[in-house]
Amino acid sequence: MGYKLTLFPNADSIKSEVKCSACGCVLESPVCLPCSGQHLVCSTCLLRKSTGRQKLFRCPSCHDRIVLDNSGEDSSLEQLLNGKGVPNWIRVELASLRLSCPKRCGSTGLRLSELGRHFGANCGKTEVACGHAGCAKVYRRELAEQHDSECPFKRVECRVCKKQMLNKDLMAHQLKARCHDLELKLARKQCMKQCNKDVLEHYRLLREHSLVTMQEFRRTELCHLERMGVQGFARRQPLPHLTAVASLNSCDAMKRCERCRRVFNCDSNHETACRWHGGPLSQRARWRMKVKHWQSLRESLQGCIR
Ligand SMILES: [Zn+2]
Ligand SMILES: [Zn+2]
Ligand SMILES: [Zn+2]
Ligand SMILES: [Zn+2]
Ligand SMILES: [Zn+2]
Ligand SMILES: [Zn+2]
Repeated sequence: MGYKLTLFPNADSIKSEVKCSACGCVLESPVCLPCSGQHLVCSTCLLRKSTGRQKLFRCPSCHDRIVLDNSGEDSSLEQLLNGKGVPNWIRVELASLRLSCPKRCGSTGLRLSELGRHFGANCGKTEVACGHAGCAKVYRRELAEQHDSECPFKRVECRVCKKQMLNKDLMAHQLKARCHDLELKLARKQCMKQCNKDVLEHYRLLREHSLVTMQEFRRTELCHLERMGVQGFARRQPLPHLTAVASLNSCDAMKRCERCRRVFNCDSNHETACRWHGGPLSQRARWRMKVKHWQSLRESLQGCIR
């Protein structure tokens, strides 16, 4: 069989002279028949369609009988297969045709004359033999990387003792020389080191966080003390969660608490305020807040301190 016409992007413009008269495809290693019309066929078509012990072939165009047997008078089969008598312009015409790879590797725009080089160098669908001594595996070129990684005859190095050996002997060596055990031991040591580092880092973060919480608590407490009238206890600090509500009331004293979303008056609304408003808290309530904070702190630290 020659090259199928569907492989050529401009199949319509291909001259009929470069098509095989047996299969109708573009000629593959053309043979010039010694018939009256000197018709051209592919060498594979010639061998496939010749019959009998004498290798009788009938030209598909002019129906002349040709005896291909070397002892026959027509011509030596070998000379025919070598392309004897094929006009030079046919060869030039064939070499200039462009086609996609017949093995469907995805390459396009290849010259017919470059096809052999393409199969030999970079066609993913062409079968190649494994290059490692002793391996008889034949595989498609696109699978070369996969086979190389698992080829039993590839020379590899033991990761632990750096000894060179064949891939197929590696497992037995690592079991025998206890390289596996050594590797596991090293990995465990590394893991322990990392774990200790993580715990220390976690502990540091917790301490930092608790410090921030403590500062916030202290600030709130100081504000409460100031509102209760204990002056000079600390410098007045603005409560960050209180924003003035200008649109609701023109009175400057009206504020909105960002925590409970309630608008309140600083002077008169203390009974309904949430504790973040900064309304005066009783001694008892302040103590409850402190205890609650310490409890949550202790819970968050539990299990981290040894
Ligand atoms: Zn053919
Ligand atoms: Zn003929
Ligand atoms: Zn290809
Ligand atoms: Zn191999
Ligand atoms: Zn080893
Ligand atoms: Zn509030």
